[in-house]
Amino acid sequence: MRKRILVTGGAGFLGSHLCEHLLSLGHEVVCLDNFFTSQRRNVEHLLDDHRFELVRHDVTEPLTVEVDEIYHLACPASPVHYQRNPVRTIRTAVHGTLNMLDMAREVDARIMIASTSEVYGDPQEHPQKEDYWGHVNPTGPRACYDEGKRCAESLTVSYARQYGVEARIVRIFNTYGPRMHENDGRVVSNFVLQALRGEPITIYGDGQQTRSFCYVSDLVDGFLRMMALEEDPGPVNLGNPSERTIRDLAEISIRLTDSRSELVNRPLPVDDPTRRCPNIDRAKRLLEWEPRVTIEEGMGKTIDYFRTIVAEQG
Ligand code: NAD
Ligand code: UDP
Repeated sequence: MRKRILVTGGAGFLGSHLCEHLLSLGHEVVCLDNFFTSQRRNVEHLLDDHRFELVRHDVTEPLTVEVDEIYHLACPASPVHYQRNPVRTIRTAVHGTLNMLDMAREVDARIMIASTSEVYGDPQEHPQKEDYWGHVNPTGPRACYDEGKRCAESLTVSYARQYGVEARIVRIFNTYGPRMHENDGRVVSNFVLQALRGEPITIYGDGQQTRSFCYVSDLVDGFLRMMALEEDPGPVNLGNPSERTIRDLAEISIRLTDSRSELVNRPLPVDDPTRRCPNIDRAKRLLEWEPRVTIEEGMGKTIDYFRTIVAEQG
């Protein structure tokens, strides 16, 4: 059935892939963004499609759009971006989510909130299951994002309990792919660009900290399955359970780009989580979902994308 679907943060990295996928399934898509951490370019190729509408709007301001479903993704996502203006990050995570929940209630739409593995902070349980409450520093430099997203989750379950809003929460673990912002400082974009440019690969700390990297198409598939669930299962982790060290990722980036870049060490940012890996049993059971794209395949596509960017810059 054709639906009318709102994607907030739709011009961003994840949002643009989601819009593209929803259009390919025949839906109408309203893409809402204030372009704080993205460019029109990410969705320019969709503008000719009459089922696609691009709206410039800040989610911290209320609005109403008649839609059947809302994917609420709008929020700066990388540590560099979300720490640049922490108050704005909290406002976006909290007021933005409040406004989108109000809209969902008003127009009777199902809403999916993009939460994050950061709600687990620097986790003391490993791998992280959804029933783990986390280990978050409420006053550290990551707090604006971590606590903002935790509050967004609390708002979401409260709207569901109090007003019967049909809400779904996905906790997204590190995801990568084409259209990651080249200046957002995330590890995959940094390493690939550094390797392609022959610049030193900047490993923060000793590189023994771990992350688990999910390719964007796998994640988008998980989003749709989550939205399609008729019962609210509570928060669900979406991510790739294949855990690797940051040094390992640096070596993969060098190998797949045939780069001569050297590895250099830089100070570890404050409160940088030591280990992160999702337990995805809940997603496997409820959504029949698990990632399919290997790191070589996903990194290959990401490298192709950044090669074009580097070539354009001359
Ligand atoms: P992104 O920065 O590429 O996309 C975020 C989008 O939201 C951008 O287009 C930005 O302009 C927009 N935006 C920011 N503030 C806004 C506001 N106030 N009003 C309207 N639009 C606004 O980041 P992304 O990686 O695509 O992340 C999307 C969502 O997924 C975020 O909510 C993020 O917290 C969550 N997430 C992403 C990851 C990941 O690894 N990519 C991991 C965990 C959670
Ligand atoms: N990192 C790194 N070099 C970089 C960028 C990031 O070593 O150039 C590390 C960072 O310290 C963290 C991991 O890579 O341990 C993932 O960082 P990212 O900012 O991508 O996401 P996070 O999971 O920390 O939000």
